[in-house]
Amino acid sequence: MTALLQVGRVSKTFGGFSAVSDVDLSVEEGEIHCLIGPNGAGKSTLFKLIVGTYAPTGGHIRFRGQDVTQAKPFARVQLGMSIKRQAPSVFKALPVRQNLHIALQHHTAPDRLEREEERLLELLALSADAAKLAGQLSHGQQQWLEIGMAIALKPTLLLLDEPTAGLSSEETRHTGELIKRLNAGGMTVLAVEHDMAFVRQIATAVTVMHLGRTFARGSVEEIVADPSVAEIYLGVPHAG
Ligand code: ADP
Ligand code: MG
Repeated sequence: MTALLQVGRVSKTFGGFSAVSDVDLSVEEGEIHCLIGPNGAGKSTLFKLIVGTYAPTGGHIRFRGQDVTQAKPFARVQLGMSIKRQAPSVFKALPVRQNLHIALQHHTAPDRLEREEERLLELLALSADAAKLAGQLSHGQQQWLEIGMAIALKPTLLLLDEPTAGLSSEETRHTGELIKRLNAGGMTVLAVEHDMAFVRQIATAVTVMHLGRTFARGSVEEIVADPSVAEIYLGVPHAG
């Protein structure tokens, strides 16, 4: 079986510096795949290579059997990738419902729009706040709204960059439940994450990066039990 997303020997240099070196990563259909590693490991750079923000210096990226190594970001979105970036990009001056409407409108028949808005509001636990301006939501709720806008595109692969950044532990747990529910509905997920409790909650597969390279991969149980993985986090003041 071919992987949904297949990254092969991908590299990215900035000047003379190798941020990502010969990285292999396979995301199988149905996985919640977490990409972890200490600060500076190259996770965000790899994420940007996968979504097309950067072109790799070497290697290839295949998505749904197609070579997307040089494809523009919008072409990857059209193929079924949807991205929730770290910085929230909801329309703060517009109501919550309007944000979802905007995200849904190009992918939903007009007579189904309202029903889809309701379904998403309920899924995101934002029904009671539908008329509020998005800027009035809590930080956690804004993150969920943004996940809602990403899934409005009905992606095959949902890509999340640190979805729990700045969230309380209760909000983090809620985010994990939301992601698991989306996954149960058939969505494959790739998440860059540093919160290990969250990774334990959601991951079905884990890839560990260190110094720009793939360091380990396995189930969450295997990774948590691997003493060499614990070691790379030691001496790093802010593992992330
Ligand atoms: P992580 O997300 O795992 O913390 P990054 O991918 O952000 O790591 O960074 C990996 C390394 O690449 C770091 O040493 C970082 O300083 C460097 N780096 C990242 N982006 C750039 C850039 N645009 N220009 C130069 N160096 C960069
Ligand atoms: Mg990062």
